[in-house]
Amino acid sequence: MMLSMMISGPRQPGNDIDVYLSPLIEDLRKLWDEGVLVFDGFRKETFQMRAMLFCTINDFPAYGNLSGYSVKGHHACPICEEDTSYIQLKHGRKIAYTRHRRFLKAHHPYRRLKKTFNGSQEHETARIPLTGEQVFQRDEHLNTIFGKTQKKDKSKSCIWKKRSIFFDLPYWFDLDVRHCIDVMHVEKNVCDSVIGTLLNIQGKTEDGLNTRQDLADMGIQSQLHPRSDGKKIYLPPACHILSRKEKISLFQCLHRVKVPQGYSSNIKSLVQFKELKLVGLKSHDCHMLMQQLLVVTIREIFPYKVKLAITRLCFFFNAICSKVLDPVKFDDLENEAVIILCQLEMYFPSAFFDIMVHLIVHLVREIKCCGPVYLCWMYPVERYMKILKGYTKNLHRLEASIIER
Ligand SMILES: [Zn+2]
Repeated sequence: MMLSMMISGPRQPGNDIDVYLSPLIEDLRKLWDEGVLVFDGFRKETFQMRAMLFCTINDFPAYGNLSGYSVKGHHACPICEEDTSYIQLKHGRKIAYTRHRRFLKAHHPYRRLKKTFNGSQEHETARIPLTGEQVFQRDEHLNTIFGKTQKKDKSKSCIWKKRSIFFDLPYWFDLDVRHCIDVMHVEKNVCDSVIGTLLNIQGKTEDGLNTRQDLADMGIQSQLHPRSDGKKIYLPPACHILSRKEKISLFQCLHRVKVPQGYSSNIKSLVQFKELKLVGLKSHDCHMLMQQLLVVTIREIFPYKVKLAITRLCFFFNAICSKVLDPVKFDDLENEAVIILCQLEMYFPSAFFDIMVHLIVHLVREIKCCGPVYLCWMYPVERYMKILKGYTKNLHRLEASIIER
């Protein structure tokens, strides 16, 4: 069932979404407390129906608006919360969320390595995610006044922005996962970053002079530091960038892919040989690339270790997106996610690790609590949006024309 709601106006409501949600919350409370009388067509009798909201499905910015947590800045991960590990990159002016070795088991050999990672050993452990009760205690005292005209008090910067309206529901405290991380968006963003970095596409790649200067500042991976011969600055080739020959072989492979009708979009049309780019990648194209195609196309290329890390990443996404999951294997899958991220940390530049890449570590926990991914990702929602958008006739009055038709 999809609860759709339209909010008119030029700007998105942001944190003020609670105002629009309050009628929905009222209905949900009624459905939980007393229920409504519903007619059963099969038995020909009425019964008292009750319902509860199990979790919300949304993209990451909406996660912030619904939960009241600030998903930007240094502590952007809502699950690690204050414990989110970040580096502020000086030259690239980005925030990188690294140090995934904290999530490894206590005596994992990766924890003792220095040179391959950030130059020091890792002894910390990642903290246990907050329960609903603890989250409520944190934002109970926050007094939010809704409305765009309110001036924000910037002196009090707190990672919790408001008390989420969902806490009006009596059962909301007891849910382990209240808002789902959307695997569709995570997969799309990770795929974009991986491909951008591999193909070294200008504007998409995280590798560049700034990244290399940051490496020099941190004093790690000395073979990649920028060198200068007096006139020009020269960047030594990194293991994660494909040579021109390798790129052409990858593109030729993608160009030859043939798929059954309705399986995916025409992969051939995405490939641009001239600029050596993949253009117009939609979410579902990225899904297909990560699930099956990328593994096949990178078979012939790369140093072995980088290829292995990317292949494992693809297999991980394939495993979590399958319709049937074995609960016994969840712990192994969770470990696998951490190991993949550690391996990526070895080979990829720090700027690669944006918040979307970090969220991979938390995906298996959500599956444990909420069930298979296909039940709580955004594909059905986005597809329905396409249908709704198709109803638009008058571009000047979008919502009205959708409602009318
Ligand atoms: Zn986290």
